[in-house]
Amino acid sequence: MSDALENPDVRHSYRDEMVEDLRQSGLLKVGRLTLLMPRSFGFCWGVDRALAMVESARHQYPGRRMWLLSSLIHNPRVNEDMRKMGIGFLKGPNAVEGAYEQLTEDDVVIIPAFSAEVEDMELLKQCGVAIVDTTCPWVIKPHKRTLRYLKEGFTTVIHGTVGHDETRATCSLVNHEGGRFLVVHDIDEAAALADYLLGKIDGPELQKVLHPMAIPEDFDCQRDLRKIGIINQTTMLASESRAIGDLLKAALMERDGEDGIAESFRDFDTICRATQDNQDAANTVVKEHPDLFIVVGGYDSSNTRNLARVGDYYDVPSFHIEGPDCIAASLSYRERPSGEILQAENWLPSEGPVRVAFTAGASTPDTILGQVINRLVAYSGENWA
Ligand code: SF4
Repeated sequence: MSDALENPDVRHSYRDEMVEDLRQSGLLKVGRLTLLMPRSFGFCWGVDRALAMVESARHQYPGRRMWLLSSLIHNPRVNEDMRKMGIGFLKGPNAVEGAYEQLTEDDVVIIPAFSAEVEDMELLKQCGVAIVDTTCPWVIKPHKRTLRYLKEGFTTVIHGTVGHDETRATCSLVNHEGGRFLVVHDIDEAAALADYLLGKIDGPELQKVLHPMAIPEDFDCQRDLRKIGIINQTTMLASESRAIGDLLKAALMERDGEDGIAESFRDFDTICRATQDNQDAANTVVKEHPDLFIVVGGYDSSNTRNLARVGDYYDVPSFHIEGPDCIAASLSYRERPSGEILQAENWLPSEGPVRVAFTAGASTPDTILGQVINRLVAYSGENWA
């Protein structure tokens, strides 16, 4: 790992001087615009590490065909850069058709920072490919906790998103080890689970509230919800994860009493430090009530989506955008919770002072944030002079 981190070529190419200055100062005035920046945002240690490991692998395996199992991180620009380097994709929307089936021991396969499903890892080992595993150590934490729950006979309740690469990997681990899991996406789904635990609704009613893939087919609510242990996908909204833990604990306290709960409930915070720091820092800036809160990052990035939710707490208009092209007379942004890409009109006051707060997800290069800021300044009619 240290070798990889000593190779800075790729991650340095995503740096931006103006963003670095803003990171230090936290505030910049450009004409009528006041730009506010949290003390923590953008690339996390795990992403830095994954990029450095890719760069090291290119030096270590010159001339070998190189593949990413799926997106390295959830940012379209970074994944496009991987393709430009000649690294193909085995799975996902950019997969090269038939490539996965034709792997040989001459191929090199990079496992993304989110980890991989057990079935994929076994298949890759069988093929004899060289594996470069960039799985973030923070992602391994919930895996370890899950295995402990499993050993103690607990069903793992995951606060996560069904279909997200990290949660898919965790579910596959539980399945592979013969355990049980259930995924709750938010506090509303957790409330339905609490209602089930208290006997207010039955199993089929609970299943109607959850995502169809949130529980395995052979899940038996009566059998499998006697003892539950909670983990979080590392990039969820930390405050919601805590609220979910408290809610389920209170339900089991009511069901099993103070003595019984020691046997039926486990809770362990597996939100990663970078996610927590970025959310805390965004909170600090947004609670100053800027006129706008712009969150920059891939639309499929879980931690970016959750950063966009911070604005809701303070009633600040918040927009999750992917890059500079989103900024125009109609602002193109991802609406929550529908996930649709919508257009906002009159999103920037045409005159008078405007305070704009920014943040960026853990998979967003500073270069993209810098382009967004430059585009906003130009669009508002101001300039840097
Ligand atoms: S967001 Fe957290 S878990 Fe994900 S790669 Fe970064 S440090 Fe690791």
